[in-house]
Amino acid sequence: MLELRPEGLYCPAGDFHIDPSRGVDRAVITHGHSDHARWGSKAYLCSEPSEPILRARLGEDVSVQTLAWGEPIDLNGVRVSLHPAGHIVGSAMVRIEHRGEVWLVTGDYKTEADSTSGAWEPVACHTMITETTFGLPIYRWRPQAEVFGEINEWWAANRSEGRASVLSGYSLGKAQRMLAGVDPSIGPILVHGAVQAMNRACSEAGLVLPPTLSVGDATADDLRRCLVIAPPSALESPWIRRFGEASVAFASGWMAVRGRRRQRNLERGFVLSDHVDWPSLLGAVRACGAERVLTTHGFAEESARWMREAMGLDARPLHDRSGRREEAEDA
Ligand SMILES: [Zn+2]
Ligand SMILES: [Zn+2]
Repeated sequence: MLELRPEGLYCPAGDFHIDPSRGVDRAVITHGHSDHARWGSKAYLCSEPSEPILRARLGEDVSVQTLAWGEPIDLNGVRVSLHPAGHIVGSAMVRIEHRGEVWLVTGDYKTEADSTSGAWEPVACHTMITETTFGLPIYRWRPQAEVFGEINEWWAANRSEGRASVLSGYSLGKAQRMLAGVDPSIGPILVHGAVQAMNRACSEAGLVLPPTLSVGDATADDLRRCLVIAPPSALESPWIRRFGEASVAFASGWMAVRGRRRQRNLERGFVLSDHVDWPSLLGAVRACGAERVLTTHGFAEESARWMREAMGLDARPLHDRSGRREEAEDA
């Protein structure tokens, strides 16, 4: 039903691509991250909440058609619908049905619900193309409430020492999840311009976020008490210097890997991921009832082998252009 072409996943019967790497005639887009939503296609199809994000990233004049969650559309006799992926605002899994056969393309996903990303739900399918960014048994996330408890404690401790707390994460998705998860009663929250632009798009998509300041609005007192949300690239720019002796932290699933925090010269690393961990990956595959699984991103070989040997599934890696260990969410 789907085949892998140099420009990405293609459905010959329906004549559409999913998250193509270059411009095509019709692109079905799972979510707004830059490795999934690329410029240059003639027509885009995405979820309703994804539309303002796509327009913010690709330009106001792109041709976008949207679907409500679960609403089917007929593309040349192929039935296509979008289902919440729980990864970032508007993120979708794509269900494709043709002649009684059902495929599911997860895009990036996470089964633990948060208030910003829409609740993931299983979709019954015969074949599942799943991401395996963190597809190894060592990746097990703690409940996010515990992680946000730690972030709040870290911020409050820095505030009492009169230093800012810089919390870095991708400007689309992670930034909004952090904003929604921290305790705004601790102090003012400042956001980088890139985060502000994405907040605006997410608000258009219906997301309600706590009030934030931009650096220009902040008083000297704010700068000593604030939480700063900024993309990783801002840590290497002069922008960061105005916060003086700030404590700098990064929130990512990669912070689970020993040495990553030291490598980046960070004071703290918070393990907070917008992707499934190992138990949720296997749980999702079971919940969707797939007989055949194609794995992509990250630990595709390792997780496919596990699914074959321990779960008795017809599983193999989908060999594609994606990087093996890293994922560029934010270019
Ligand atoms: Zn993503
Ligand atoms: Zn991705």
